[in-house]
Amino acid sequence: SRNGPRVYKIVILGEGGVGKSALVIQFVSHRFTDYHDPTIEDSYQQQARIDGEPAQLDILDTAGQLEFTTVREQYMRHGEGFILCYSITDRRSFDELLAHKNLIDRVRCNENTPIIVAGNKCDLEQKRKVSTEEGRRLAEQLGAPFFETSAVNRQCVDDVFHGIVREVRQKEYDE
Ligand code: GDP
Ligand code: MG
Repeated sequence: SRNGPRVYKIVILGEGGVGKSALVIQFVSHRFTDYHDPTIEDSYQQQARIDGEPAQLDILDTAGQLEFTTVREQYMRHGEGFILCYSITDRRSFDELLAHKNLIDRVRCNENTPIIVAGNKCDLEQKRKVSTEEGRRLAEQLGAPFFETSAVNRQCVDDVFHGIVREVRQKEYDE
């Protein structure tokens, strides 16, 4: 349209080291970054055509802490869709996902917030600690789509970022 595509405010959450930055950079820049400063919270813009409709994704890459700060509360409030990310090689990052979900619910007063679950590093099959079935079950419990991803080989990266836009759109159609 004349005003440009609709902007979708997306936030990626999850424990440090699970590959949040690598996923965002792979989605936006089509390359794998082995190192990204874990303390940096940065936002990235990317246009995409999703189901034939243009979208402008405004993605906030968070630094993974669970403390409740004013800034965090701010972006949780302004985010429209949330990617909950763990690593299939790290059981703790999986167990911690519910805490991130609870934080979202708390800030957003349990409104039905669009989320998607990403089990990252699925290229590291030999180091797997969380089964695909466990991931699927957790996502189902949260009413969220589920993908196992790899920021190394770009597996299901588009599915996750396009998928969260689909969830936001679906919620709008439903309302
Ligand atoms: P963040 O703290 O969640 O942002 O995690 P980073 O994106 O900084 O990634 C942490 C480490 O995991 C880095 O060494 C990355 O290179 C690595 N990494 C991230 N994603 C993947 C992946 O899909 N597969 C593999 N094998 N390593 C990954
Ligand atoms: Mg990071």
